Amino acid sequence: MKAFECEYCSGEIRQKKVTVDHWYEGKLVIIKDVPVGVCQECGQRYYAAATLDRLDIMAQNSDAAPERMSAPVMVMGP
Ligand SMILES: [Zn+2]
Repeated sequence: MKAFECEYCSGEIRQKKVTVDHWYEGKLVIIKDVPVGVCQECGQRYYAAATLDRLDIMAQNSDAAPERMSAPVMVMGP
C-alpha cells in the first residue's frame, strides 16, 4: 500500500492493528486487531470502507464473541 498523508496535519499514515470500540445500534462492541491507517503525528485513524462494513457485520454477530468485558460508567459533574 502506498503511503499517504494525514488530511489534518500532513503526518505520515502507517498501517497498524488496533483495538476499536465500535458502537452499532446502541450497543458497544470491542474489536481487536482491526487494520487501520494511523497518523504518526496526531493519531487520526483512517478506516477502509470494507473494514467499516466488517465492523458492522461483526457487531451484528456479537453474541458469538469469545470474550466479554465490563467497564465503569461515570458522569462528569459540573
Ligand atoms: Zn495527522
